Amino acid sequence: MSDSTRPVSLVTGAGRGIGRGIAIELAKLGHSVAVNYAGNAAAAEECLALVRQAGGEGIAIQADISNAEDRERLIFDVLGEYGRVDYLVNNAGVAPNVRADILDASEESFDRLININLKGPYFLTQLVAIQMVDQVKRGLESPFGPPKIVTISSISVYTASVNRGDYCIAKAGLGMMTALYAARLAEYGIFVYEIRPGVIATDMTGGVKEKYDKLIADGAWPIKRWGEPSDVGRAVAAIGRGDFPYSTGEVFNVDGGFHLRTL
Ligand code: NAP
Repeated sequence: MSDSTRPVSLVTGAGRGIGRGIAIELAKLGHSVAVNYAGNAAAAEECLALVRQAGGEGIAIQADISNAEDRERLIFDVLGEYGRVDYLVNNAGVAPNVRADILDASEESFDRLININLKGPYFLTQLVAIQMVDQVKRGLESPFGPPKIVTISSISVYTASVNRGDYCIAKAGLGMMTALYAARLAEYGIFVYEIRPGVIATDMTGGVKEKYDKLIADGAWPIKRWGEPSDVGRAVAAIGRGDFPYSTGEVFNVDGGFHLRTL
């Protein structure tokens, strides 16, 4: 069992990209971070080294969040190490392997995106929520108050990209997932939030870098730069500190102002 005074965060898909940025910002607050990953163990170990450098500590846990047995093992391992979970960060997600027009796109790609990007977080949140309710009933609390849940969705919740409809539909579902768990868990003091990142520099956007470089130069959103994983990480850390005690189901746009309508 590790140091029980540290808040315990479970960050899915934390080996690389946005998840790694989140893990590092939580480490700066002194968290123990369970770094979940799908297949890239080396990236997860690199992330853990950065977590330790930043003042946190953690463990890496391989688990495919789209798989029910893996989700159960993931929670089992976190509880085995720390005995509780104070903050769930649903971050893991994938882009479609092929960006296909919705008039051509395959059912196989749809199933993959729904399973990883929506069904996985939905049922992982169910498992963690049950555990969090039990912690609240037992009076187990981190230094930052009752447990919290945040989901990393996307501007794709409301932006129609006709060459990745599967991704948009899965992300739109996460918006409703946030509302549902926020409504259900408020009575326990467990608050639930959503972060909608814009275009963030990670492996996921590496293949479309030139497209986004041009959009940024052309002013597609007001803050004229790429988002960084730390931009999302800092928002996750701010929520984790418990500084929004009369807000739940809240959406935080971390998108350089993309969501603004301008004329
Ligand atoms: P990324 O660089 O491709 O990293 C994805 C992470 O998710 C990796 O750590 C990967 O693990 C993990 N992962 C993938 N499938 C998984 C599964 N089935 N089970 C567990 N972990 C899995 O992606 P990113 O850009 O950081 O994106 C992170 C999240 O932010 C995603 O939900 C994405 O949709 C969302 N988002 C991204 C952007 C953007 O512009 N980048 C914008 C809006 C929203 P391995 O390392 O083991 O492969």
